[in-house]
Amino acid sequence: MPDALYPQLPSVDRLLHEAAVAPLVAQYGQRPATDAARALLAEARAHIAAHRVLPKWTNDWPAALQHALAERSASKLKPVFNLTGIVLHTNLGRAQLAEDAIEAVARVMREPVTLEYNLDEAQRGHRDNAVVDLLREITGAEACCVVNNNAAAVLLMFAALADGREAIASRGELIEIGGAFRIPDVMRQAGCTLVEVGTTNRTHLDDYRRAITERTALLVKVHTSNYRIEGFTSAVKEAELAALGRDTGIPVVSDLGSGALIDMSAYGLPVETMPQQILADGVDLVSFSGDKLLGGPQAGIIVGRADAIARLQKHPLKRALRCDKMTLAALEATLRLYRRYSQPHDRLPQTLPTLRHLSRAQAEIAQTVERLLPECRKLYGASFHIDGAPCLSQIGSGALPMNTLPSQALTFTAHDGRGRSLEALAAHWHAQPKPILGRIADNRLWLDLRCLDDEDELLTALRVAAVSPTERLPDTSTATEAAGEGNSASQPD
Ligand SMILES: *Cc1c(COP(=O)(O)O)cnc(C)c1O
Repeated sequence: MPDALYPQLPSVDRLLHEAAVAPLVAQYGQRPATDAARALLAEARAHIAAHRVLPKWTNDWPAALQHALAERSASKLKPVFNLTGIVLHTNLGRAQLAEDAIEAVARVMREPVTLEYNLDEAQRGHRDNAVVDLLREITGAEACCVVNNNAAAVLLMFAALADGREAIASRGELIEIGGAFRIPDVMRQAGCTLVEVGTTNRTHLDDYRRAITERTALLVKVHTSNYRIEGFTSAVKEAELAALGRDTGIPVVSDLGSGALIDMSAYGLPVETMPQQILADGVDLVSFSGDKLLGGPQAGIIVGRADAIARLQKHPLKRALRCDKMTLAALEATLRLYRRYSQPHDRLPQTLPTLRHLSRAQAEIAQTVERLLPECRKLYGASFHIDGAPCLSQIGSGALPMNTLPSQALTFTAHDGRGRSLEALAAHWHAQPKPILGRIADNRLWLDLRCLDDEDELLTALRVAAVSPTERLPDTSTATEAAGEGNSASQPD
């Protein structure tokens, strides 16, 4: 019986010559249209073999082809609604950039710019010059060096200052940030020998002092941004280590990580050490990320003493780790916002999305939840109990998971009480043109609205999702992209 169904399928050629399909061929190209048509036919044949009926979507081949082509030509970097509650979500690209930064990137992409060209002396300038004055002004540093990310910054500091020699670090600070970034491994890659001092919970200045030999090239501090040691603890302060470095003539570097350039407590956020404080303590170099609390592009920023920075700039690794013009333009524009708006404080969050999201008050988020509740109940009330509930947002994923902020969420509980229904809802939202990402916990699906920028856009997406069939049109984009796999966003760093 199914054999009678196969002849009802069109040929690729006939399909592509249908009047309603011709515009698709013109829009997407002959080759993509042919590939998509072949994939649809294969899917239809498989469906017949498995179910002995034609799949429903074969009623409208042009629509199915349109859908398949749109899906195949969409960017792999899909914009999403980040309602996970993690503000600086590494798997979602961390900081959202300020409009000024976005414009600056577009400008340098379109036209030649003076990236390493010094107009005054007609000689080669340095690419980090784009941000040196701003960073000096904001952090009080003598000089700076900008590389691909903070992991690269740390690697470069070790390689340029301690290659073939020893670097001393506390056992309480030998951190793993996620992925393959572990301080001992980075040191090995940089060619320096790690000398561990102290214990996991307590390290004293004397531990560093006693470990110093003629082979010592560097004293290292690492900010433990993703875990906390509590109880009977002791760590050496930057100022003490800097004094020891001065006495012994050994450079001191600090990997700060998060890179808050302003007093976060002024925005009701947990206190974060700022690079300017560490430099004021006398540390030679401090490194931090551009796309964490700073709210700029992915970058590793090193600020500090001119002689130490000069060694980094001259090192061959700098060439391999350097930033492109787009990153430097985005960073420059972001730093300008700090200079323009950090006094008075209240204007910075208006221009810097990361700070806006982080500093949004729970009461304000709760109002958004209340505004969306009635419509959500109308749309999803048949299958789910929908409520507003307090929750905790996380500032970062792998890198800054410790700090939480009180927030408010829309929560969905299945009437049938089954986790499967929640997972199906989450998968359905993941399959939307702009996926809606929440988080399942305690038998509820949570949409933390802290990072929501456009209520109307979310409402529209929720409306479209509510009426769109859960049974999806054929997915011919890639065979391996199984539905429901999109939750990798919850992985750490
Ligand atoms: C985040 C972090 C890093 C890695 O920075 P990336 O910009 O992600 O490369 C290194 N050290 C510390 C302390 C961090 O917090």
